[in-house]
Amino acid sequence: MPDILTLYIAFWVFIVGLCIGSFLNVVILRGLSNESIVFPPSKCPKCQHALKWWHNIPLLSYILLRGKCYFCHEKISPQYFIVELVTGLLYLAVFFKFGISINTVLMFVILSLFVVMTVTDLKEKIIFELHAYILAGFGIVLSLVHHNLLNSILGLMEGILIMEIFAAIGYLFVKSRAFGVGDTFIAAALGTIFGWAPLLIVLILSLIVQACITLPLYIYKLYKNKNFKTLISLVLFLLIALIYKLLTLKSDINMTIIYIGILLVVISGLYCVRQITRNIKSTKDAIILPFGPAMFISAVAFIFLN
Ligand SMILES: [Zn+2]
Repeated sequence: MPDILTLYIAFWVFIVGLCIGSFLNVVILRGLSNESIVFPPSKCPKCQHALKWWHNIPLLSYILLRGKCYFCHEKISPQYFIVELVTGLLYLAVFFKFGISINTVLMFVILSLFVVMTVTDLKEKIIFELHAYILAGFGIVLSLVHHNLLNSILGLMEGILIMEIFAAIGYLFVKSRAFGVGDTFIAAALGTIFGWAPLLIVLILSLIVQACITLPLYIYKLYKNKNFKTLISLVLFLLIALIYKLLTLKSDINMTIIYIGILLVVISGLYCVRQITRNIKSTKDAIILPFGPAMFISAVAFIFLN
């Protein structure tokens, strides 16, 4: 149990996090609409009415106004509330993980940039190069504090190399890059923060996170488009793979069953891939999600679980 003083500081860290979150909302919005961060003062995007001071209190204003503009009753995007809350919670987590240190200050900045870049990527599929440069800059500063500059530079180069190789693979299949250049900027910046070896773990983790988000959405889309042939083959494959995995957890298993199991997994897997590749071009089944958010989620998981 932390002592009273720690809890008192933690409370204020959370409040500061909420206020920074509020500011990040402005950075996101004005960045996407090309407006200045400092000017003009906050206004409703719908009715252009200037907001009163009590419309700008993090979390509370959104709750008090019940998610609607005070003047025109236009719905306010829940993005404001979510960004404030997430930033507050991240700041709190940083404080409890790193205490009062230079690491904490650098992590506040780095995680704030994570939040901004995640939202611009989710909202408009845009990663601002400037944000990536600032993130990489703070990654380098972090590495200088830890006397780890070489590792940081290696991470930067590794991020660029891995992502550009995967992006180039796109030319083999669809005659264009597999994904936008923004993802390379993110991986490179994360490389400066983590160094080359942990970056590999973060990138593999990102693939898993991405799969966990994409798969349910993809299954839902197949169901909605009534593409039952692909849906059944996919569900069948996942079931067979799961049963195989559960069976092989026992050590006293017959080798014949293992071989039959592998054969079934491979056959159902190949059939599933054939169904998916057949349908992906003809129907609207394809799901293209930005990869950036998965990378940031993995990076946050790596920071706090490591
Ligand atoms: Zn309004």
